[in-house]
Amino acid sequence: MNLSYWEIKNWFTNIDYTIVGSGIVGLSCAWFLKERFPKSKILILERGMLPQGASTKNAGFACFGSLSEIIEDLKSHSENEVLELVEKRFYGLHLLRKTLGDKAVNYQNNGGFELFNNTDDTLYETCLSQKNKINKFLKPIFKTDVFSLKNNMFNFKNIKRQYIFQSV
Ligand SMILES: Cc1cc2nc3c(=O)[nH]c(=O)nc-3n(C[C@H](O)[C@H](O)[C@H](O)COP(=O)(O)OP(=O)(O)OC[C@H]3O[C@@H](n4cnc5c(N)ncnc54)[C@H](O)[C@@H]3O)c2cc1C
Repeated sequence: MNLSYWEIKNWFTNIDYTIVGSGIVGLSCAWFLKERFPKSKILILERGMLPQGASTKNAGFACFGSLSEIIEDLKSHSENEVLELVEKRFYGLHLLRKTLGDKAVNYQNNGGFELFNNTDDTLYETCLSQKNKINKFLKPIFKTDVFSLKNNMFNFKNIKRQYIFQSV
């Protein structure tokens, strides 16, 4: 890339912080650095014309993990690690909402629904049998039961009769 004298002088000189990647993590990092060091000069480098990672491709669900995801996490991490992880995700979402504002991100609290295909017998049975245990496990953070069952009120086809509903 050929840069002019002015581009080099204005954009790439006397940089205090360089951040690689303009995804949600890179931009949050820049935001909080700027808040802490308002006079600092921050350079964000992005390999694509537009951000090329998960942040602009994701589904936009503000979720700390579904029941089956938490059960999966517990297979490879200790209970303490998973609890810490859930807590970080939960407070991270709160921080993001506080920083950006619910209106700006069109935040809607609709709860979460985990659906299972009719063929997913094993996973579904595992979730049902672990539900109460996981609710108890998450109580220190949420003080309430997070996961419950709801009937197929959206009338999706070929799925189990009940969803796992996530209230928080
Ligand atoms: C399909 C999909 C759906 C998802 N749905 C959800 C959801 O509903 N809710 C949720 O909470 N999470 C969801 N996620 C996860 C969430 O999107 C990611 O955890 C989050 O976006 C990661 O942010 P990041 O900034 O770490 O990474 P990224 O958004 O991937 O950002 C990294 C950036 O760095 C750039 N980069 C990489 N290497 C270089 C380099 N060498 N030089 C310059 N730039 C570089 C990339 O181009 C990219 O723009 C989803 C993810 C995917 C893929």
